[in-house]
Parts: sequence; structure tokens; C-alpha cells
Amino acid sequence: MPTLTPTPRDASFPMADCAACGKPVLTYVALDDDGAERRVCVHCDTAVADHLKWVSPGELEQAGYYFGAPPADGAAAGEKGGCSTGCGSCAVKKH
Ligand SMILES: [Zn+2]
Repeated sequence: MPTLTPTPRDASFPMADCAACGKPVLTYVALDDDGAERRVCVHCDTAVADHLKWVSPGELEQAGYYFGAPPADGAAAGEKGGCSTGCGSCAVKKH
């Protein structure tokens, strides 16, 4: 049963076809000069079509996006356990 929810809560990410990139891309909402919201490509900031596809994290990874630590060896992070940006708040793990 199709339940069309305009803004799914967590674990859904808006993808759309970007004409400039020529592939499905992750999108985000930006404000144009008039202060109106528009959805643009995360890569090139080109406004994308309104055919949003809300995907799960798994689908997003299949499209080439990753969450958290990079899938490779994460050399940039220096040490494991924290986020690569060194923001301090997410480096502390509680068990
Ligand atoms: Zn693009």
C-alpha cells in the first residue's frame, strides 16, 4: 500500500536525478535568492527535478554514498572511534 509521506523521518534520504551529474544524486534543500526552498544536488548545487526518491541508508550506499567512517582504511581519521572531523562530541563512546 503506497503511503506517500512528504517528509519521512529518519533513515530516508532524498535522491533525484541530476542533469549535470548525469546520475541519481543525494539532494538537499537550499534557499534561492528569493528565500524559497529548492532542492539541489549535493555535488554541483544544480536544482534537481521534483521526482524525489526517498531511499534507505542501504540503498544510498549502493548508489555510492557512505555513512560514518569511510569504507576504506580511514587513514584520515588518525585513530578509530571518533569522527574524522574531530568534533569531540561523537568521539566519546559509552558502553
Ligand atoms: Zn549534480
